[in-house]
Amino acid sequence: MRRDAIVVGAGFTGLAAAHELVTAGMNICVLEARDRVGGRVEACILGDGQRIDTGGQFLCEDMPEVLALARRFGKTLIETPLDGEFVVQPPTTEADAEKVYAASVAIRERMLAIDPADPHIAGLTVAAWLDRQDDTAAAKSAFRSVVEGLWCQDADRIPLWHLIDNDRRVTNEITELQYFLGETMHSLAGDIAAELGERVRLGCAVERIMYRPELVSLRTSVGLFEARQVIVAVPPVTASRIAYDPPLPERLAASLAVWESGAVIKCFVRYDRPFWRKRGLSGMVMWRDHHGLFACETSRDAGHAMLVVFMGGPRAAYWGELEEAGFRAELLSRLAAALGPEAAMPLEILRRDWTKDRWSGGGYGDMIMDMQAHDAEAVLRAGHPPLHFASSETALSFPGYVEGAIVAGREAARRVVELLSSTAS
Ligand SMILES: Cc1cc2nc3c(=O)[nH]c(=O)nc-3n(C[C@H](O)[C@H](O)[C@H](O)COP(=O)(O)OP(=O)(O)OC[C@H]3O[C@@H](n4cnc5c(N)ncnc54)[C@H](O)[C@@H]3O)c2cc1C
Repeated sequence: MRRDAIVVGAGFTGLAAAHELVTAGMNICVLEARDRVGGRVEACILGDGQRIDTGGQFLCEDMPEVLALARRFGKTLIETPLDGEFVVQPPTTEADAEKVYAASVAIRERMLAIDPADPHIAGLTVAAWLDRQDDTAAAKSAFRSVVEGLWCQDADRIPLWHLIDNDRRVTNEITELQYFLGETMHSLAGDIAAELGERVRLGCAVERIMYRPELVSLRTSVGLFEARQVIVAVPPVTASRIAYDPPLPERLAASLAVWESGAVIKCFVRYDRPFWRKRGLSGMVMWRDHHGLFACETSRDAGHAMLVVFMGGPRAAYWGELEEAGFRAELLSRLAAALGPEAAMPLEILRRDWTKDRWSGGGYGDMIMDMQAHDAEAVLRAGHPPLHFASSETALSFPGYVEGAIVAGREAARRVVELLSSTAS
C-alpha cells in the first residue's frame, strides 16, 4: 500500500510527527526498529514493583508541549524532592560550595552572551575558551562538570559555537528536574502510540531508503514500504547509518556526518528510607573531582527511597568498563562519602548503560563535533523532500530533551502536510 507519509522511528519525535500527520487526515505508518516505542525514553520495573524511567524522565513547567501531553493523558506529576542541602564532593564548606556554584553559573551566562557566529571564537573548543577565562580553577572545573554531564561529550572537543547555540535554546528558568511522571514518561509514549494503533509497526528496522520526487520506497527488516513523503525521525548519527539511494546530496550527507553520539549511564539506587533527609540533605550530589557525575533523589514518597545517579561524558566509558562488583563498590563508596554510611547499603542497584545503544546513540543527544559545520543543523532541518529529517537534536527549542523531540516532530510533520496539500491541490 502506498501511504501519504512514513515516519521512521517511534521515539517522541516520530510519535509527535505521526500524531500531527494523522490529525491532518494523512494515511501514514510508523516504522520502529525496536520491539517497543519511546526510543531514548524507556522504563523498567524495580524489585519493589515500581516502574521507573531508565531514559528521559524529567520535565518542568517551562516545557509546554510535554506538559500538555502529560496532562492530556492524565499523568501524575510528581515533584522531585529537591529540599535540603546540596552536597559537593570532595567535601567543602557550604560557603565555598555556593561561591563555586555561583561562579560556574556566571561562566555559563558569559558564554551564552557570546554570539555563536563571533569570529573571535572560531576554532575554539569549550575547554580552550574556558582556559582563557579568569575564573578560579574550582569554578572552571564545576562548569566543565556541568557541560560534560549535560551534553555528554568531552569539553576538549565540543565546538564552543555549537554549545552556545544549543544552550541558548534550552530556555527553562525552572529546573528541568522539577517533575517526573508517576506512571513514567515511557507510558506517555505508549499512550500516543496506542492512539496511533496499528499504524505503528515494531521490529521494523529501515535499512535502505530509495527515493524519487514522487515516491519513496523503504527496505526494512520485514519487507518493503512505500510513501510519498518520509520523515526520518532518528538521531543524526543513526540516520547516517541508513543507506540512501540515490546517495544524499553532498551537503546533506556532510551535515549528517558531523554529529557524534555522547555517552551516558543512568543508575538507580533504591533504599529502605531516604536516610539523607534526617541530616538535612537533598540527596543531590555534584562531584567536582569526577566531571559529569551527578546524583539526585527521585523517591516518589518516603516509602520508595531512591537516588538516581548520572555518569555522563568521557568518564562514562570508565564506569561502563567496570564489571558489576567494581561498579557497585565505587558507586557506593562515593555515595557513602557524600551522604553517609547508610548509602553503602542499598536494597537494589539498576544500571542502564546507553553508551553503545544501537538505535539512539549514547547520550541525551548527538552533538556536532566539527568546528566548521555551522550550517549542519539548518541543512538537516531543510531536508531533501520527499525526505525530511527530525529528532530532538534538530529542535528549535529544547534540543536534547523530550520537549525538543515533540517540537521537532510536529514541525517536520507540518512541512510534510504542506507539501502533500500543495501537490494534491
Ligand atoms: C539516560 C537519558 C536520560 C534522559 N533524561 C531526560 C530527561 O530527564 N528529560 C528530558 O526531557 N529528556 C531526557 N533525555 C533526552 C530525551 O530522552 C531525548 O532527547 C528524546 O527522547 C529523543 O527523542 P527522539 O524521538 O528524537 O529520538 P529517539 O528517542 O532516539 O527515537 C528514535 C527512534 O528511532 C528508532 N530507530 C533508529 N533507527 C531506526 C531505523 N533504522 N529504523 C527504524 N527505527 C529506527 C529508535 O529505535 C528510536 O525508537 C534523556 C536521554 C537519556 C538517554
